[in-house]
Amino acid sequence: MRVEHQISLSPFTTFGVEARAKRLVRLESREDLEALRTVREKDEPLLIIGAGSNILFTKDFDGLVALNRITGVEELPRGDAGEYRFRAGSGENWSPLVSRMTESGHPGLENLVLIPGSVGGAAVQNIGAYGIEAAERIDAVEIFDLESGEFRTLSTEECDFGYRSSVFKSEEGKNWVIVSVTFRLPNEKDWTPVTGYKGLSAALEGKEVTPRSVLVAVEALRRSKLPDPKEFGNAGSFFKNPVVPELQARALLEDYPQLVAYPLGGRRTKLAAGWLIDAAGFRGRVLGNAAVWDRQALVLVNRGGATGKEVKALCDEVIHAVNAKFGIELTPEVEIL
Ligand SMILES: Cc1cc2nc3c(=O)[nH]c(=O)nc-3n(C[C@H](O)[C@H](O)[C@H](O)COP(=O)(O)OP(=O)(O)OC[C@H]3O[C@@H](n4cnc5c(N)ncnc54)[C@H](O)[C@@H]3O)c2cc1C
Repeated sequence: MRVEHQISLSPFTTFGVEARAKRLVRLESREDLEALRTVREKDEPLLIIGAGSNILFTKDFDGLVALNRITGVEELPRGDAGEYRFRAGSGENWSPLVSRMTESGHPGLENLVLIPGSVGGAAVQNIGAYGIEAAERIDAVEIFDLESGEFRTLSTEECDFGYRSSVFKSEEGKNWVIVSVTFRLPNEKDWTPVTGYKGLSAALEGKEVTPRSVLVAVEALRRSKLPDPKEFGNAGSFFKNPVVPELQARALLEDYPQLVAYPLGGRRTKLAAGWLIDAAGFRGRVLGNAAVWDRQALVLVNRGGATGKEVKALCDEVIHAVNAKFGIELTPEVEIL
């Protein structure tokens, strides 16, 4: 395994801010995972990077970065109810995989198209969009335990998936590298479209609803709203949508009837963080070379040459402004390092 030194990380994250890794390796096979244990020095900080689409570096990484490029897709025997099952290497590129599955007649992931990232990152983050979360389609996750050197398969229960969270973000999970993810997609005959999300149903009005038409509609919606990281570095939604007690949401709705809120059950309500940021006057706000995206206030962008510190400073300003106006503390969805 080749170790590179003092490597720029800007090509390896979608924010594209400058930061250096003290040491860097590439993982291309299961054997490389075992080699990683040997290469890693005692107590050396380790960071696995998939596609780097959920990371913001605010300083150099004083440790070992492992770029995950473990690929491969393998069809598995169908489930008892005829579900289509397959296993994907954690370094597979997520969105092309979604397109490939949909186009080849295996629906179930179409709402999650065009989310940048790797298969491993999708599991860590339990990505979600347009009414679907990855966890709903995951059957099992194979990990490599860096401490014991063993491969192990976790059930979805053990993965402890939640809203943009999983066991892989816990202290225990930090010792694991996700090697592959097994998916279970609904039997083609049982496929039901998930189109309840605002915007998606409107985009499909008057059209035949098929897995492909949903895929195409989601692609168009995402392209119209989100900046392309190749043009403006970003990591998608910078903040999580806050979940508040129903009573607090009701009080806010009295003062702000346009507030976008989704009742969750259990007397809790999810609020649209983008709406809160917009209403706090931050849509389009510029700070140095960082900015709040003017078409979707939930996204912070690198306008070119931004530093991670600049983006973080803007993030802090947004949190402060939303808290001052609404009494709600936003939390970043992006991992800030
Ligand atoms: C334009 C844009 C739009 C986006 N839209 C959405 C959206 O709609 N919904 C959504 O949920 N997210 C969205 N995101 C965020 C991002 O795409 C997801 O979080 C993605 O799944 C991250 O995957 P990654 O491979 O890039 O992870 P990285 O950024 O590389 O890593 C993220 C974290 O996961 C860990 N990790 C990655 N791979 C492994 C592995 N194999 N084993 C162990 N740990 C690992 C890393 O160490 C890090 O802690 C968007 C991002 C962008 C840039």
